[in-house]
Amino acid sequence: MTKFLVTSGLPYANGDLHIGHVAGAYLPADIFVRFQKLKGNDIIYICGTDEHGAPISIKAESEKVSPQEIVKRYHESIKQAFDDVGIEFDNFSGTSREEHHRISQDFFSNLLEAGFINKKTTPQFYDEEHKRFLPDRYVEGICPHCGEDEARGDQCDSCGKLIEAIQLKSPKSKISGNTPIIKDTTHWFLNLPKLENELQEWLKTKTYWKENVHNFIMSWLNEGLIERAITRDINWGIKVPLKNTDGKVLYVWFDAPIGYLSSTVEWAKLQGKPDKWKDYWLDENCKLIHFVGKDNIPFHTIIWPAMLMKQKENYILPHDVPANEYLSINGKKISTSKNYAIWVKDFVKYFDGEYLRYVLAANAPEKKDSDFSWEDFQNKINTDLANILGNMANRVFAFSKKYFDGVILKPIKFSEISKKVFEKSDILFEDIEKDYSEYKVRKATRDIIEIARIGNKYFDETQPWKTVKLDKAKANETLFVCAELLRKISIVFSPIIPKSMNKLREILKLTKEIDWDSLQTKICEYNIGEVKPLFPKIQDDEIKYQNELLNKIENENVELEHKDEIEFDDFMKMELRIAEVIKAESIKKSKKLLKVVLKIGNETRQVIAGISQFYKPEDLIGKKVVALFNLKPRKVMGIESQAMILSAEENGKLSVLIPDRSVSTGSEIR
Ligand SMILES: [Zn+2]
Repeated sequence: MTKFLVTSGLPYANGDLHIGHVAGAYLPADIFVRFQKLKGNDIIYICGTDEHGAPISIKAESEKVSPQEIVKRYHESIKQAFDDVGIEFDNFSGTSREEHHRISQDFFSNLLEAGFINKKTTPQFYDEEHKRFLPDRYVEGICPHCGEDEARGDQCDSCGKLIEAIQLKSPKSKISGNTPIIKDTTHWFLNLPKLENELQEWLKTKTYWKENVHNFIMSWLNEGLIERAITRDINWGIKVPLKNTDGKVLYVWFDAPIGYLSSTVEWAKLQGKPDKWKDYWLDENCKLIHFVGKDNIPFHTIIWPAMLMKQKENYILPHDVPANEYLSINGKKISTSKNYAIWVKDFVKYFDGEYLRYVLAANAPEKKDSDFSWEDFQNKINTDLANILGNMANRVFAFSKKYFDGVILKPIKFSEISKKVFEKSDILFEDIEKDYSEYKVRKATRDIIEIARIGNKYFDETQPWKTVKLDKAKANETLFVCAELLRKISIVFSPIIPKSMNKLREILKLTKEIDWDSLQTKICEYNIGEVKPLFPKIQDDEIKYQNELLNKIENENVELEHKDEIEFDDFMKMELRIAEVIKAESIKKSKKLLKVVLKIGNETRQVIAGISQFYKPEDLIGKKVVALFNLKPRKVMGIESQAMILSAEENGKLSVLIPDRSVSTGSEIR
């Protein structure tokens, strides 16, 4: 039996959970934990919310509430989102709890005592209007590494590199919008250069880490390790455990990973066995695995191990950090600040959380970034789950109910074609076990669906609808082989879609308790119970609606390019009037143009308008529209156009402007 301690990067308690979070650090961990539990290994899954740092205090200040209130709100919301998609932690804590403060201060004191923390006076940005220092996200500017705008004072979203706020070019205070001045302040620094050799030696043993993680670390090490400030000038956080340090707290990135330990300590206490955390953290045979998103790699592979190395207790170091890359939506980066995301709480209003689990597993950003689109979501659910697996199950259930009263018996002997199916699928079942242990969830989903595909093909080839009339035993054999595949799928698919597999097992009248070894269990008889639909299909209009919601967000984020200012007189030069469409006809040889006759007062004007794709002639007749009348007449396809009908354009689609009350033709627009 192997012992594991699994963690996922602590989500920040300043916002809700979106599907990119789930795909990055939580679903892969949850699947791994569920798999290891099936294997009978000793494993606990620990997490909690990250409740300190500038993002939370900034949000609290902008909403004029306490940081505690922000933390409470999002801790609850995040916890609910995890429940909704079936992410099951053994403990879910939070870093503003007392125990965490105590343990974090101990970490600091131990490192200081061991000579790995230096105190230094350093220049910092300072907002003169608000009389305060501007750490981390309190300042934004141009990234010194990649030149991208809007880099934050702690890390650049664009290139992923860590930034010392002071390095930002063209800095701006987030509080006042002013350019900050530079002022000296005192901080404590983790002496990473002093630990470099030891870290290098340790990292050399990690030959089995994922390639993307390895590459990230190498680029970091090649740049050389520098001393990193581990304190900040803000009030929200863990007090520096030294005298005369008012207004200084531990940097959130120093205390956050300690949350893995403090959450385990809390878990042990809740178990009524306060020392039980030691069975994991102090047992050198326990494998500590940190699931994180790509931006968290340096903290978990360099800074956090460095912190652990110099403690009084002999803590285990990370065994693996299987970090994932990013998930984008429709090819665009998820952005919480622009609200461009699919939030879990919204997703579960429309679809089952299991569907999200399946699609994010099948499309996991394991080696490179991957993309989510609603079309792909619909396609994966309807094809893989409904048409392939669901269809196979339904055929077996319906057929056995119709001809065998739902009772399927093990044949005395299997035919060659059945033996082949077992052989082929057994290889895949072994592959799936390997996939899970190597965090290859994408491949696991492919292998599982492949088994269902084999089952369908076998059903087609053995033609039970024919054999049932000639040789009933043959039809029974087909059903038994398929039922065996379904039973095994219900085991190996359960780390990814546990609820659905439980449903499948209920129909097959199998026990709820499962383990990996039961793949080998010998079954003599299946008895099909009440059949329930396993995977309802997703309809086109559901996807259309979700895309409309996404488009709405995108349009709200469009950055407008403004034109030069004009004088009021310039505006008054335009003769804009209400006019009635009295005639409209399409123009032969043109898909885009309509010939429209407008009436204003006692005059009529002929207009050539490029709206034929959006309006039929009969839709326009009788409508009162807005038109520009003193535009120089011009010829379009040889026909004179004597005015211009105004319309709003959105993604190339035109909508004609119509006044919101009835007004007489000729009325002027101003
Ligand atoms: Zn950058």
